[in-house]
Amino acid sequence: MSKYWNSRVKNISPYVPGEQPRDRKFIKLNTNENPYPPSPKVIEAIQEADNERLRLYPDPQCTALRDAVARRYAVKSEQVFAGNGSDEILAFAFAAFFESNNGSKADSILFPDITYSFYPVYADLWDIPYRTIPVKEDFSINTADYKIPSGGAVFPNPNAPTGIPIPLSDVLSLAEYLEKQNKVLLVDEAYAAYGAESAVPFINKHSNILTVHTLSKSASLAGLRGGFAIGNSELIEGLCRVRDSFNSYTVDRLALAGAEAAVLDAAYYDGINRRVIATRERVTKTLRGRGFTVLPSAANFIFIKAPIEKTEPCISGADLMAALRERGLLVRHFNRNRIADYLRVSMGTDEEMDAFLEACVAIINSIGKTR
Ligand code: PMP
Repeated sequence: MSKYWNSRVKNISPYVPGEQPRDRKFIKLNTNENPYPPSPKVIEAIQEADNERLRLYPDPQCTALRDAVARRYAVKSEQVFAGNGSDEILAFAFAAFFESNNGSKADSILFPDITYSFYPVYADLWDIPYRTIPVKEDFSINTADYKIPSGGAVFPNPNAPTGIPIPLSDVLSLAEYLEKQNKVLLVDEAYAAYGAESAVPFINKHSNILTVHTLSKSASLAGLRGGFAIGNSELIEGLCRVRDSFNSYTVDRLALAGAEAAVLDAAYYDGINRRVIATRERVTKTLRGRGFTVLPSAANFIFIKAPIEKTEPCISGADLMAALRERGLLVRHFNRNRIADYLRVSMGTDEEMDAFLEACVAIINSIGKTR
């Protein structure tokens, strides 16, 4: 706490990103990065970017990148916004479409109780009131629960950290409900490439749907920082108004070059992401065979709980994470109500996942022996 902080900064609880170790070499299964390298065309495009032009500001409208996204997703360029990672776009979207408590009480926005933990941080940062809607017993989202008066809604599809997808018909039915109230539905499609049905083809039907996408996962570019949103051109203009009230040049020249090449190389990425999906299915089957609970994932990660003894998992989420860490494997644990027994495990290469499975079995077996 500092006497120089204003009350907003004193009161916020910032998001805590997953560990990026610098000291020791770990098998990193904790931040949902892609285990495979980016397309060679991305590296080429960055290397060929005109260094001399780094003197000059980048294109604030990100025109070439937006044109590439428009072509790939069969939408218009004015229906695309590009930003410095999808976190930035989500922050802009909260600021643009959800009402703050400016004197009078605004309606709360809605998101699941178990979801991406950045949403409450953005809401607090912009002073937007929110209400969390409990996911069902099986951790799935019931979109009917969101059909109540609100300031709008947001969720990822598939949800994080559970990986459970939401049927497109449910997303569209909620969009229709919210559209009648003139409220926005943010669909965070960070992991949609791994099995969820995208709402992008419906942005012309429902003018209130904004889909948000990242290059960090399916395009193997977490280190480049790129993302985009697709929606009605009025929504895109709203995002531009926030960006241009904050920082007009959020995407640099090298990132623009790399991101454009990534968006255009769908064939390469379909190949590596199919491998990630195959690994996910294999690891899920193996862990279930060993008595683990594994939620049905349509993402590049799985959400798992150790085998149950009597009524409790044989090892807590925190202890399993610590034991895996000792063996050189990083995974993510959220010490929160309902999910404290679970770990989120990003899919690595097949060799990395074999090491993970071996470590899990060894840890569970060693518990049996000490009892
Ligand atoms: N949405 C969800 C659901 C995520 O898990 C993440 C990754 N932490 C993001 C958005 C942000 O991704 P990025 O800023 O790297 O594009």
